[in-house]
Amino acid sequence: TDQSLIRNFCIIAHIDHGKSTVADRILQLSGVVSQRDMRDRFLDRMDIEQERGITIKSQAVRVPWVFDGQEYTLGMIDTPGHVDFSYEVSRALAACEGAVLLVDATQGIEAQTLSNLYMAIDHDLTIIPVLNKIDLPSAEPDKHAEEIAGLLGCDTSDVLRVSGKTGEGVADLLDRIVMEVPAPKGDPAAPARALIFDSVYDSYRGIVTYIRMVDGELHNRERIHMMGLGTTHDPIELGVIQPDMTPTASLGAGEVGYVITGVKDVRQSKVGDTITAEARQASEPLPGYRDPKPMVYAGLFPIDNAQFPELRDALDKLKLNDAALVYEPETSVALGFGFRCGFLGLLHMEIVSERLSREFGLDLISTAPNVEYDVTMEDGSRHHVKNPSEFPDGKVKRIVEPVVAADIITPKEFIGSVMELCQDHRGQMGTMEYIGTERVEMHYHIPLAEIVFDFFDQLKSRTKGYASLDYHEDGEQQADLVKVDILIQGEKVDAFSAIVHRDKAYSYGVMMTKKLRELIPRQQFEIPIQAAIGSRIIARETIRALRKDVLAKCYGGDITRKRKLLEKQKAGKKRMKMLGHVEVPQEAFIAALSTD
Ligand code: GDP
Ligand code: MG
Repeated sequence: TDQSLIRNFCIIAHIDHGKSTVADRILQLSGVVSQRDMRDRFLDRMDIEQERGITIKSQAVRVPWVFDGQEYTLGMIDTPGHVDFSYEVSRALAACEGAVLLVDATQGIEAQTLSNLYMAIDHDLTIIPVLNKIDLPSAEPDKHAEEIAGLLGCDTSDVLRVSGKTGEGVADLLDRIVMEVPAPKGDPAAPARALIFDSVYDSYRGIVTYIRMVDGELHNRERIHMMGLGTTHDPIELGVIQPDMTPTASLGAGEVGYVITGVKDVRQSKVGDTITAEARQASEPLPGYRDPKPMVYAGLFPIDNAQFPELRDALDKLKLNDAALVYEPETSVALGFGFRCGFLGLLHMEIVSERLSREFGLDLISTAPNVEYDVTMEDGSRHHVKNPSEFPDGKVKRIVEPVVAADIITPKEFIGSVMELCQDHRGQMGTMEYIGTERVEMHYHIPLAEIVFDFFDQLKSRTKGYASLDYHEDGEQQADLVKVDILIQGEKVDAFSAIVHRDKAYSYGVMMTKKLRELIPRQQFEIPIQAAIGSRIIARETIRALRKDVLAKCYGGDITRKRKLLEKQKAGKKRMKMLGHVEVPQEAFIAALSTD
């Protein structure tokens, strides 16, 4: 394809502003998906995405569009809106020259509208501002067009108005894309360079890599070289997605497509790497991506420890499709062998566990998530603690925790409630600006640990759902934090240790000991359950001893009944963990770790 006839763009917006729905209309209008095959949010291909109604993965698709009698090739990428998936968005942006910035005409600019816009500007993309959902009676397009024009420094008449529901204005949007988004500017005659912006593991075909051709051309069956990894492959298929994978003989500069090498070893592919032709190699790789930094960590353990190797294999494969996931092996006294995983947030963590269970059939327990702490001891040693159970013993000199810059957009009547919420979460207020006349954007510095857990839910409930939140890492600060251990009959249970602010240590201890007292069955002897900071006990509960021996009631009874009872007990024990002399059912761990 002639580069001057290519336009690559992504659709960015706050969550639920209608990206995937507008993408549907584009697929239909351009004729690549027929009326019969159409379903809502066509590009949300995963079951989890359909069920939850959110986009998790960016999806690239090629659509034709005729403008002024000339057929153009549009490369469209639908992106997720949730803050946990902004790394997905940033990788998509690097494959495009333009971005369609959608804003819900009933809501106006929200927190992720801004963060995605700034990311697109950082990537030098041409921005096309669009108000969506103009079919709704509550839409206020004039008012919100003002906001957007103010933000972008453009004219209100530059803000397009569309409806992803009725399709109104979508053809105009495609025309605007052709007119305004610059054509790719790679060198078609240069040695081939293609950026790997995503990949996925397919059990039949092995690794599928999604690429954006920057320079030159790649031909099917032409031997390729991965510049970063230094490996060489013979592709078995090259093609474009429209919207199914369609093989082509070649991919030229500016095109977005895919390559299948037939390789099944997941270490042979890396998102952000540059593909070149083996016979005529480029001298410099493309810039690639910065690895994202995990925000929260948690342990993932197979309920059946025999599944540990399968979990490793599943994580390796999932990582291909989720470049933000990091993991390393971990052992826990209570939970056995597993992995300590790093995630971009709690939604990301939830999605990873759910994909591991759905796509790989694994049954997992996850431990309570925590952020990473930088601990300096009196003896001068320094420790990066990603796992509370690895918190060093001895005298602590200082603990440093990560801090985020949080941007909250809210109607002005909720300013007071938002301030209160942020104060409760150790937030420090920065500046505040008006967006239009009724809403404000508030800036805060808040410890990451305070924001990743229940903050968002509380924000929503205190603002009747109207506030939106975005945050990004912004340094660190010293804080008065302590490690709380939980002891069952004097034995520390690693999975339950937590690092919390000193003010919250007592309530954590009380909550956990109470929970465990209810979850652990009574045994032949009394079992103390304690919460401690170092050697100081801060809370205690006791499970009283069972009065009667289980076998006592069988005395004189018949022997088969007795044997049956013993066998039943043995079977039950398989799911028990021994902590010292105490048997703790697996379920108790799971229940104690679950947040609700
Ligand atoms: P995304 O998160 O930005 O991809 O948003 P979705 O495309 O998933 O849409 C979120 C919700 O808004 C869905 O319930 C859509 O049906 C609805 N929606 C999207 N566009 C429109 C529109 O133009 N009009 C109306 N009435 N609803 C829309
Ligand atoms: Mg979507």
